[in-house]
Amino acid sequence: MTVTGPVRPDELGVVLPHEHVFIDLVREYRGNGLLNDEHLASAELAALREAGGGTLVDLTLDEIGRDPAALRRVSEATEVRIVMGCGHYRDPYLDRGWFDRISPDAIADEIIRDITEGVRGTGVRAGIIGEIGADRRYISAAEERSFRAAARAHRGTGLTISTHAARWPVGLDQLDLLAEEGVDPRRVIVGHSDSVPIPGYHLALARRGCYVSFDGIGTGSRYDLDRAAEDIVALARAGFGAQILLSHDVCLRDHLRAHGGCGYGFLIGGFLPLLTAAGLDAEQVRRFVTANPRAALTGED
Ligand SMILES: [Zn+2]
Repeated sequence: MTVTGPVRPDELGVVLPHEHVFIDLVREYRGNGLLNDEHLASAELAALREAGGGTLVDLTLDEIGRDPAALRRVSEATEVRIVMGCGHYRDPYLDRGWFDRISPDAIADEIIRDITEGVRGTGVRAGIIGEIGADRRYISAAEERSFRAAARAHRGTGLTISTHAARWPVGLDQLDLLAEEGVDPRRVIVGHSDSVPIPGYHLALARRGCYVSFDGIGTGSRYDLDRAAEDIVALARAGFGAQILLSHDVCLRDHLRAHGGCGYGFLIGGFLPLLTAAGLDAEQVRRFVTANPRAALTGED
């Protein structure tokens, strides 16, 4: 399901599974944390299209400025397909008072409405659940409710769950919690895995059966990029190539091409060649951005 309606899986093309077109992270990043320029968004997506991109997954949630109508407009203007997220982000963005009063089932009902009817009367329907977040090394009380609700919405609709698990190996706890709610790890994308520098973490995730998302490609330093390439090659050589996902997580002004950043096209033009230069087969590398995200979104091989 995209913001302009359903598409066949074979129409997705090259997919970026963890991005943001419009976002408000002002509380953490001041002016750099606000993407609200529709004209510029269209230009950046047009560049992605030119680089060979077909589909972008926008994981912006209501806590950080989700704008379904604007997503639909830029998708129509650029012909880049956009899959929109739903559910709840992470502490401290969550409305703790609301989470204290509402049950996971009631939260799940709202998420399911976004998926089946669309968001707030726009008719724009979500196509993925996420990014469901844990802010720190643990899952907070409010975040636990959010994860349980996401799991129940997944079980009610079949949509994939994508998570935010940055810096600490909390992705493993997220998988435990989701499994407790009956979610098959093969329907879960653990996000920001490349930001966790713990030896063995990526392998531990992969062995659980989930997708391991290296989604900070090009938005960090040269060290980060080389480190990610190394970890991806190691994971592929260990036999888990089909579970690797790649994206940029564009979420700040200075990530955009217009402001000197990598933009949405860097992965295709700048990073995939790095992986083949590191010794991976070009066909396999291509699958990281086509067959893998397609399977992750649809649950079908
Ligand atoms: Zn993100």
